[in-house]
Amino acid sequence: MNPSGIVDEVCKLYTRFSGKSMTITIRVQALTGSKDQFWRHKSLHELSDEEWESLCDGCGQCCLIKFQDEDTDELLHTRLACTLLDIGVCRCTDYDNRHARVSDCVVISPDTVDTLEWLPHSCAYRLVAEGRDLYWWHPLVSCDAGSVRQAGVSVREWATSEEGVPEGKKIRFIVKDPSIKRVLTG
Ligand code: SF4
Ligand code: SF4
Repeated sequence: MNPSGIVDEVCKLYTRFSGKSMTITIRVQALTGSKDQFWRHKSLHELSDEEWESLCDGCGQCCLIKFQDEDTDELLHTRLACTLLDIGVCRCTDYDNRHARVSDCVVISPDTVDTLEWLPHSCAYRLVAEGRDLYWWHPLVSCDAGSVRQAGVSVREWATSEEGVPEGKKIRFIVKDPSIKRVLTG
């Protein structure tokens, strides 16, 4: 949770107790999201490194193994996650060396994001590149990393590691569940 997103508000409630009017003062912590909503007024090229990294919502969708149908060009997601993905927290376990360790780990940058058609529709980089706002569940908005999971966007509930799965058998893990397909394809 982002401490800067917490605002204390004092609320007064008026109630009646035993026939008498009473005033009860309570303290409420209101979550207002990141104070500097930089993604609304900066382009991807203008972001600092810290802002860029904070944009990733940690959904893990971009770390799934995918196939492309040769006849239809349709993108087919599998439940298999890259061997370096810690599925429990949906974070890369060797982020600094990811491109050296995994040859097909794609570089997402302000220059490439427009060309990555397979980026999930909910990916924050895609949203900002398209001039759209982040969803309510993005941690920068909700100030709660758990909201990605609550919204059903995280892969952690159903993904499994590709570790030990032979290449020829990966196709068996293509997602068929309609509710997961909806999450992945919008
Ligand atoms: S799809 Fe986008 S927001 Fe989700 S983990 Fe990948 S880069 Fe981050
Ligand atoms: S190397 Fe890391 S960032 Fe790249 S696909 Fe694998 S888990 Fe994701």
